[in-house]
Amino acid sequence: MLIGPGDDAAVLAPVRNERLVVTTDAVVEGVHFSRAHFAPADIGHKALAVNLSDLAAMAATPQWALLSLVLPGDWLVAEVEGLIDGFGALAIAHSVSVVGGNITRTTGPLVVNVTAGGTVESRKWLTRTGAIAGDEIWVSGTIGGARAGLEMLSDPGSLIPDPGCVAKQKTPEPRVRLGVAVGRGRAARAAMDLSDGLADGIRQIGAASGCGARIDASALPIEPGAAAWWQDRGIDPMMAAIAGGEDYELLFAVPKKSGRLRNVQRHVAKPAMTRIGVWLKDPNEFVVARDGRDEPLPQGYEHFAERREAKTTLDERREAKTTL
Ligand SMILES: [Mg+2]
Repeated sequence: MLIGPGDDAAVLAPVRNERLVVTTDAVVEGVHFSRAHFAPADIGHKALAVNLSDLAAMAATPQWALLSLVLPGDWLVAEVEGLIDGFGALAIAHSVSVVGGNITRTTGPLVVNVTAGGTVESRKWLTRTGAIAGDEIWVSGTIGGARAGLEMLSDPGSLIPDPGCVAKQKTPEPRVRLGVAVGRGRAARAAMDLSDGLADGIRQIGAASGCGARIDASALPIEPGAAAWWQDRGIDPMMAAIAGGEDYELLFAVPKKSGRLRNVQRHVAKPAMTRIGVWLKDPNEFVVARDGRDEPLPQGYEHFAERREAKTTLDERREAKTTL
């Protein structure tokens, strides 16, 4: 950064022989989070985390971020500072420079809009296209935790929400080191991050790559607290974890028995990676194999919303995805 916050705009130096990768995403009070459950620092953390997760999915190393805060008038100075602290702590953890920002007042809900940029070596970026039939499907970390965490926070009957699930919901850890290592090591042919659920991710990569997919139900790394939560309520943990969003894990298409992926795993031990299935030739076949039988892959929340789109207002559509 040549010129940073405090002037009219930031001046950044391009990195030699690297390509610039940029993304933007906003989190909105009442749509993505509730102040009843999120501390200001959690809101700041999550607003940056979802952007770093997108950069990680492209195998880009995050470098800088811009923060635009649209604040309701009843916010206390200490709360604003808390939000900026949460944002800043995650930025520091990933060596991201906050190169500028803006604060505006609103009569509406809190909006935190973030733009983030990073760099990647030429042709080392990862996209959703490139999966080939026969490639393995791999996912990082665990799935279902963020969705279960949201349900726990919203359910007044849940006295002690599982801390693992709540952390996945409030303060997701973007898989930056993993995404960058996979890209550098050319260990995957396609990737994306799981913002709208595993089913959605599988279908997105499948659509972009012209592949179908078969998931092995017994291999799924379901967050333990989430599985217990759904089991107690008579809900199928496998289907709930596949459909549930906001895990911010990375999903990959990896050539069969890849030594390159093993090499990445030697350098990036955490989060663990799990092989969960295989990409198929038929672009219309999306199934989950359980107890020797194929079941249809559940739809992600996004798709569920789109099917009702023709007769759906934007408000209703948001509700289908809505969180707290
Ligand atoms: Mg994404």
